[in-house]
Amino acid sequence: MIVILLGAPGSGKGTQSKILAAKYGFTHLATGDIFRAEMAAKTPIGLKASEYVKSGKLVPDNIVVEMVAGRMEPGVNYLLDGFPRNLNQAEELTRILAPQRKTIDKVVLLDLPRAEALKRLTSRRICAKCAEVYNIYTKPPKTDAQCDVCGGDVVQREDDSEATAGKRLMVYEDLTNPLVAYYKAEQILEQVDASQAPDQVTQAVAAIIDAALAVKK
Ligand code: AMP
Repeated sequence: MIVILLGAPGSGKGTQSKILAAKYGFTHLATGDIFRAEMAAKTPIGLKASEYVKSGKLVPDNIVVEMVAGRMEPGVNYLLDGFPRNLNQAEELTRILAPQRKTIDKVVLLDLPRAEALKRLTSRRICAKCAEVYNIYTKPPKTDAQCDVCGGDVVQREDDSEATAGKRLMVYEDLTNPLVAYYKAEQILEQVDASQAPDQVTQAVAAIIDAALAVKK
């Protein structure tokens, strides 16, 4: 199974992907998380990606595609979070999957109005150590600025500042949103209202994955 979660930054892709990957035993492949880990470890990919990630621009396709291709193994189910992010990456993904005789089973769009996405992004905080996600209004850490899970520092992502978050939403609208029509034309797109409570979003996406699994059997 290959399932893609599509949606604006702030739509809950990361949170939902983690829950759903664990529920179904899929491998969660989140390109943003990988870039942040590579940047923290100052690897060659991290150094190349850093200026793009920090300023809210897309990392060049050749870097992302090579990174994803190197991580996708035959016979493994994937939940893709943050990839593909433009039409060229979508075509490259098809090329990566072809030799493995895999196709994309479902693309789930987490639909959220722009203003709500911006609010969620600017109020989001993450643990610098384990990447657990918090929100200053809806899910603050129990102890001030300390991660409930690992005790690490809870900080704002540099690209969640109001200016950069706004830019990321523009990039999403210009480059990623066209994927909605692309996957609709392939008849594999489903849409979920991402303004619902997180549990309801999880249930709605799970129902879509369950239906796709039933078709495969
Ligand atoms: P995310 O955590 O998904 O919001 O991604 C954070 C940042 O990582 C993005 O703003 C981009 O700079 C970079 N990034 C993540 N995934 C991709 C991708 N598929 N293509 C290009 N850049 C990406």
